Amino acid sequence: MAYHCWFECVRGCGRRYSIFDVVYQCEDCGGLLDVEHDLEALKERSPEAWKALFDQRTRTNEWPYGSGVWGKKEWVMPLVDNENVVSMYEGHTNCFWAERLGKEVGVPDLWVKLCGNSHTGSFKDLGLTVLISVVKQMIADGKPIRAVACASTGDTSAALAAYAAAAGIPAVVLLPKGKVSTAQLIQPIANGALVLALDTDFDGCMRVVQEITRDPTIYLANSMNSLRIEGQKTVGIEIVQQFDWEVPDWIVIPVGNLGNVSALGKGLLMMKELGLIDRLPRIACAQSERANPLYLSYLTGFKEYRPVQARKTLASAIQIGDPVSYERAVKTLRLFNGVVEQASEDELADAAARADRTGMYCCPHTGVALAVLFKLIARGEIKSSDRVIVISTAHGLKFTDFKVGYHERKLEDVIARHANPPVELPPDYEQVSRAIDRAIRPL
Ligand SMILES: *Cc1c(COP(=O)(O)O)cnc(C)c1O
Ligand SMILES: [Zn+2]
Repeated sequence: MAYHCWFECVRGCGRRYSIFDVVYQCEDCGGLLDVEHDLEALKERSPEAWKALFDQRTRTNEWPYGSGVWGKKEWVMPLVDNENVVSMYEGHTNCFWAERLGKEVGVPDLWVKLCGNSHTGSFKDLGLTVLISVVKQMIADGKPIRAVACASTGDTSAALAAYAAAAGIPAVVLLPKGKVSTAQLIQPIANGALVLALDTDFDGCMRVVQEITRDPTIYLANSMNSLRIEGQKTVGIEIVQQFDWEVPDWIVIPVGNLGNVSALGKGLLMMKELGLIDRLPRIACAQSERANPLYLSYLTGFKEYRPVQARKTLASAIQIGDPVSYERAVKTLRLFNGVVEQASEDELADAAARADRTGMYCCPHTGVALAVLFKLIARGEIKSSDRVIVISTAHGLKFTDFKVGYHERKLEDVIARHANPPVELPPDYEQVSRAIDRAIRPL
């Protein structure tokens, strides 16, 4: 069976391009390009047969189908030869049953999809495996490409650098100087990327990289390039698969540039179109109060949209004031009866720390999502019987400065209610024993 996909203008003007063309926007109307698939060909296999195939491939050694992304290759990127796939067996991340936290907040069927349990520590791996594989195919086919490039709030550059290094393709990353975590900065450095730290914010880096990539030999890896969306859309499919093909009631997701929520929606819509599911979950987008253009637009029923100047937030990966996938995200929210809510610095830090106390290790963005979850429960939008999945976008270990700052009570605008600083003592039995009894009551 021959499966096919292509780029098509999102504004419905009908313009199409090959997946292997170096093009990021419609040359007729300026719209972004989505990857579209030949759904008729995909429909020739029954929903039950697709489910069986995806289940059977899960974690197999048969290259490259053991990857959560490439196990769904026909739905994602059928045009890349298996030998040009660049994969680290991303995906298939744990969906953590947040049993204790769920009971505390009155929603016992609460789950956290740990997308940060991945090679570079964030969900960005899901998209970059697809983009780098397509670039590797293009180079193999003789296209003149000398590098891949991106602007990043830290996680895209880490993933791009790792996958590019694995493929042997040079990578250029533009980072806002002093605005990414230490781990995020050192990742592309270690992987040999050309790291350019610019004295601006993410939106400033984005403007420069768009100019740089007018040179067609430097391929743009930001999420306005929808190849990444194709990989990221597997997260929604995987969540449903992990529940034996049952659809949850809510998915809560932290958002910045709005590519990931569009991807989440796209995967779920494709499942519905192809008959694997018969209903859709509701989606809640979570923003930082300090970078909230989608939230502000939501308050006007999406009638108005104004970019904002994003202010410094602990949730640095979503410190974005002018999201490139705004149109895509609004479309998604309308189809999924979506809501948008925001969280303050104090709320996000508190939510992350509270979840950590129940065994998680949340990055600040997951904190934003959890804080928004708590608000939606408090106002009765999410009900106690609902099955809720929170998307955790990165691993907490990438944000050690955030964790240390919290537990040392040094974060600005944060009351660290759950701070748990170490108790410093001399090496003395009596004092150590007393400290234990003070903290944990003797039975
Ligand atoms: C990229 C990123 C996001 C936001 O995803 P968008 O597609 O930009 O909306 C959220 N959290 C983390 C940790 C990220 O790296
Ligand atoms: Zn167009």
